[in-house]
Amino acid sequence: MLQKILEYQKIDMEKFKMEKEIEENKDRIAVLKLQQNIKSIESTLIKMDKDVAEYKTFLKKLSDKISECSKKVTELVNRAEIAEKQDEFDDIMVNADKVMEIVLSYEKEADALKKKLDSLNKTYKELKNQYVENLGYHSEAKNKFNVYKKSIEPKAVELIKRLDAASKDLSGDLFEKYKRLRNNKIMPAIVKLLGDSQCGGCFMELSVDCKTKLNANKIVECENCGRLIYID
Ligand SMILES: [Zn+2]
Repeated sequence: MLQKILEYQKIDMEKFKMEKEIEENKDRIAVLKLQQNIKSIESTLIKMDKDVAEYKTFLKKLSDKISECSKKVTELVNRAEIAEKQDEFDDIMVNADKVMEIVLSYEKEADALKKKLDSLNKTYKELKNQYVENLGYHSEAKNKFNVYKKSIEPKAVELIKRLDAASKDLSGDLFEKYKRLRNNKIMPAIVKLLGDSQCGGCFMELSVDCKTKLNANKIVECENCGRLIYID
């Protein structure tokens, strides 16, 4: 059984290397990174949209308040014009000044808000450009990655076929252990003893206990990396 699993592992190592190559493909990594960028820009844009809407509502409220106060000032001035007594005239004008002061403070607030809105709009535009740019890079990288995937597809199909054929008679504990290690990407999963007492996978020295088991069973699990170590 061990020999057959080793044969299987030989083919599986080719597939494992191919998977690693795919994982490390620079276009694939670029696609993932750009996807993240795009997502993050999207959420920033959504937040900015909300901020802009809030600022605009606030600005509208301020402008309403300003026109209300301005009306009041006009009313007061009109009343002052027909005041018969100087005292009455002075009182009305003091009130008008007070309201005017409020108007000025509202206008100041509105100006500051408009400036904020302008800068927000500028940032928004820049970000939107970045977004479009990232979308372009993303589709470019994705296309390149697809071309690469297509190029290795025949080999992948062939490897899967060979693995299928090689796995036909494989079963039992050993193969189950192999599959578990393979799933955890600990490959090669089955290694030969290195020298007198070293794991051929992680190169750790085997304990006396482990060595005894190996001598008795011809195969043992490495206490460090979990690989299966065998001797002929
Ligand atoms: Zn090991």
